[in-house]
Amino acid sequence: MCVRSCFQSPRLQWVWRTAFLKHTQRRHQGSHRWTHLGGSTYRAVIFDMGGVLIPSPGRVAAEWEVQNRIPSGTILKALMEGGENGPWMRFMRAEITAEGFLREFGRLCSEMLKTSVPVDSFFSLLTSERVAKQFPVMTEAITQIRAKGLQTAVLSNNFYLPNQKSFLPLDRKQFDVIVESCMEGICKPDPRIYKLCLEQLGLQPSESIFLDDLGTNLKEAARLGIHTIKVNDPETAVKELEALLGFTLRVGVPNTRPVKKTMEIPKDSLQKYLKDLLGIQTTGPLELLQFDHGQSNPTYYIRLANRDLVLRKKPPGTLLPSAHAIEREFRIMKALANAGVPVPNVLDLCEDSSVIGTPFYVMEYCPGLIYKDPSLPGLEPSHRRAIYTAMNTVLCKIHSVDLQAVGLEDYGKQGINDCDLTQLGIPAAEEYFRMYCLQMGLPPTENWNFYMAFSFFRVAAILQGVYKRSLTGQASSTYAEQTGKLTEFVSNLAWDFAVKEGFRVFKEMPFTNPLTRSYHTWARPQSQWCPTGSRSYSSVPEASPAHTSRGGLVISPESLSPPVRELYHRLKHFMEQRVYPAEPELQSHQASAARWSPSPLIEDLKEKAKAEGLWNLFLPLEADPEKKYGAGLTNVEYAHLCELMGTSLYAPEVCNCSAPDTGNMELLVRYGTEAQKARWLIPLLEGKARSCFAMTEPQVASSDATNIEASIREEDSFYVINGHKWWITGQGRPPVPTHGRMPPCTCDPRNLSTSCCSFCFGQLPFLGGFLAPRSGILDPRCQLCVFMGKTDPHAPRHRQQSVLLVPMDTPGIKIIRPLTVYGLEDAPGGHGEVRFEHVRVPKENMVLGPGRGFEIAQGRLGPGRIHHCMRLIGFSERALALMKARVKSRLAFGKPLVEQGTVLADIAQSRVEIEQARLLVLRAAHLMDLAGNKAAALDIAMIKMVAPSMASRVIDRAIQAFGAAGLSSDYPLAQFFTWARALRFADGPDEVHRATVAKLELKHRI
Ligand SMILES: Cc1cc2nc3c(=O)[nH]c(=O)nc-3n(C[C@H](O)[C@H](O)[C@H](O)COP(=O)(O)OP(=O)(O)OC[C@H]3O[C@@H](n4cnc5c(N)ncnc54)[C@H](O)[C@@H]3O)c2cc1C
Repeated sequence: MCVRSCFQSPRLQWVWRTAFLKHTQRRHQGSHRWTHLGGSTYRAVIFDMGGVLIPSPGRVAAEWEVQNRIPSGTILKALMEGGENGPWMRFMRAEITAEGFLREFGRLCSEMLKTSVPVDSFFSLLTSERVAKQFPVMTEAITQIRAKGLQTAVLSNNFYLPNQKSFLPLDRKQFDVIVESCMEGICKPDPRIYKLCLEQLGLQPSESIFLDDLGTNLKEAARLGIHTIKVNDPETAVKELEALLGFTLRVGVPNTRPVKKTMEIPKDSLQKYLKDLLGIQTTGPLELLQFDHGQSNPTYYIRLANRDLVLRKKPPGTLLPSAHAIEREFRIMKALANAGVPVPNVLDLCEDSSVIGTPFYVMEYCPGLIYKDPSLPGLEPSHRRAIYTAMNTVLCKIHSVDLQAVGLEDYGKQGINDCDLTQLGIPAAEEYFRMYCLQMGLPPTENWNFYMAFSFFRVAAILQGVYKRSLTGQASSTYAEQTGKLTEFVSNLAWDFAVKEGFRVFKEMPFTNPLTRSYHTWARPQSQWCPTGSRSYSSVPEASPAHTSRGGLVISPESLSPPVRELYHRLKHFMEQRVYPAEPELQSHQASAARWSPSPLIEDLKEKAKAEGLWNLFLPLEADPEKKYGAGLTNVEYAHLCELMGTSLYAPEVCNCSAPDTGNMELLVRYGTEAQKARWLIPLLEGKARSCFAMTEPQVASSDATNIEASIREEDSFYVINGHKWWITGQGRPPVPTHGRMPPCTCDPRNLSTSCCSFCFGQLPFLGGFLAPRSGILDPRCQLCVFMGKTDPHAPRHRQQSVLLVPMDTPGIKIIRPLTVYGLEDAPGGHGEVRFEHVRVPKENMVLGPGRGFEIAQGRLGPGRIHHCMRLIGFSERALALMKARVKSRLAFGKPLVEQGTVLADIAQSRVEIEQARLLVLRAAHLMDLAGNKAAALDIAMIKMVAPSMASRVIDRAIQAFGAAGLSSDYPLAQFFTWARALRFADGPDEVHRATVAKLELKHRI
């Protein structure tokens, strides 16, 4: 394994040039092959590994770069960097370990691109089983070479894996000699390594042929007198090797294997039938092999009297009436051939089951290659493109067939059948579809996703049948069971396309009367659930297990699609095992003197949540259809998970699903430029940064956002901000060094000031005896302030505001004080009052453009509001669960509290109110999924109006049932109540939402 030009140091170039000059006269004209002059009998073939037996690192890098949106050529350039003394070559000589290599290599790539490059993932891909697979054509060639008595060897620049074994994804038994650079401490093109290989083979250079994909390595081999073949693609190389060796390396029929025991057919009667059919008098034995792929009808290769044939038959056993209709296949193939579609020449249909046990048909064998992997590994991009283009042409030919003219009018209508694949030579789906439309003379269709969904559903249905046959022993393929298990994956894929199509259709529907939209609902009773009590649905209908939740209104977690249901249960388990037990410690941290430093426990829980895949669940599929940034859940799916997180005050932050970061991240996903995303979104998604949203101002009624006064003025290539904001919530909890645990701070304990480290700052006396908190906005992890101000006070009312991304370390941001809610500080995030004085921000930090602030706020606040409501349902469920447990165990006036009628009435009232609110939350989420945030504005307003008061009432009842303890911090009830009350203001007061609902009611319901 090596990389082109790794050896382009001046010394090596000189060696190269000398070798080149010496051997120019020996070079085969017009060919890449290098040979010596004498000798013609070969006794060994020596193979390089990467690029010859398995895909080259360069090819893998190109694929990885496309997938990871890394500029093309970065990896190759970094691999070449430093020549012989660069990290790659030192790694090949085992002078550094895999970890050391990845460290240096990662640094190199990051320096080149000025951003972090995940080289670990490149290395994983390079060494993955999926990629590092020997080319079948090479396996076949090696078998033939050895069958002729020649030796085979691997001579590879190779490396050690972290497990101290060398990376050799090959069957060692195929080779007489294996020489690896990492074992020898020398690399090709050092002549010593070639000599070592020859020595071990016991041969002279002229007795061997060496295949490598790199000219530099070949030149040195040729200089030593070894015959060489330059490998551009394995197929061509094998042909060149055949020519040199003088015998065929591809004697078998590709993609076949001996006939499976369960698929055997009587050879004698078949031979008799074929002799009659073909009019052959004498024949040798009939050779019969089975094609090793394909899931439906078993297919066989037959060789009889120099005729190469293919037979396709029904599988044995009982079959579904319309399935495996080979009679239909035969008729279509014949008709297609008559219409000029390139299909094999079909010879006969035999419906007489007495011949081989089932009906079958026979056609001529077409030699060729079958690509099972659509990425077409091992081919040049141009070759891949040519194959895809040819496939498109054939598809167009098929779809252009006049069904009536060829006698197929009784058959169904034609069906149509993203990462940037273009660089790999594989056209992207859209491009491929355009090619198709162009050839067919069709206008581009908008409902492409419909066809994709349709096709994938069909494939899923077929795969289900394949799986069934694998269970009953009727499958023709050895891989039927594995293939059949793809059903769920393929049907989910189909759903994704269906959901996308749904968004497209609904977005284009005129939004006249949202209240008349119809909903499909399904649910089923769900298991007992609760952190401390139980929650059950008493009146929901049983759902069909076949239902999945994608894009549907699912009203209980048990009716979510299997993967989301699994995620829900994983989260539930995490809450029970990790979060609820941690609450007392987290709560006491919040009450301690260290509360303005982040709790190490919460940081630890974050890592655990990340490891369990419970991270960034909030980004809706609709905003992130490619699932580039989030878990790809629909709003309805997330509603169930968010409610569960809401049962603890700490879980949303632990899972990186807390406000205001979630709203800011969604804002960046929807409206951010690529540069803004790289700068802000990625650190937020990784949980490395925190953010805040600054809109509210003390001097104006900010529930009417058109009132805000903060100014954003243009000055050269900057915007200059001046304004006064308050209630700026920042949820960041930084990994600030805390005394005793982390490196000690350098602050003077006798002279603490506001410039001290966060721990010491937290010790400062504050007004009224409070400890001075850093507000969230002051938090070192709060790196971004999403700022709303006016760029043009004279523009129309809703075009005056703009949104700017303000780095928190910009000079001029002055924190005045932290605010409290009912005396609670919400440490260490806090809510700050802040002045922005001549804060200069580069112009590229503007989101969408000047005057677009309202539009952005509308997009941002909708999801934020509904997330609050989802969590409020969680607060309420937890409160009710705690209440039920309490009243069952506490006696007053001779009986448990639960036997008091007023307590029962309170429980009933709370249950009913929670259920009502949940249904409204789910309905709003469902509408967001179907029609987008804007169209769901009314439903979001309704639930934001309902949920905080509902939660306040439910929690208040629970507090009342608890007695005085309910007000203490021994239980989460007091904090729940505080936040439920605060949410009657935050993200818009109740009255504003009521006004919205009334306005729309009057507009649409008259
Ligand atoms: C805990 C908490 C966190 C917050 N976090 C943030 C944050 O991160 N960023 C941010 O920018 N802001 C934040 N806020 C501020 C919040 O968004 C505002 O308090 C809210 O928008 C109301 O604005 P205001 O306080 O200026 O009230 P005002 O606009 O002065 O309104 C006062 C009252 O007038 C009444 N009223 C208003 N409009 C109407 C109407 N149309 N009809 C009838 N009555 C009406 C309502 O009763 C309202 O409560 C937060 C608030 C809280 C409590």
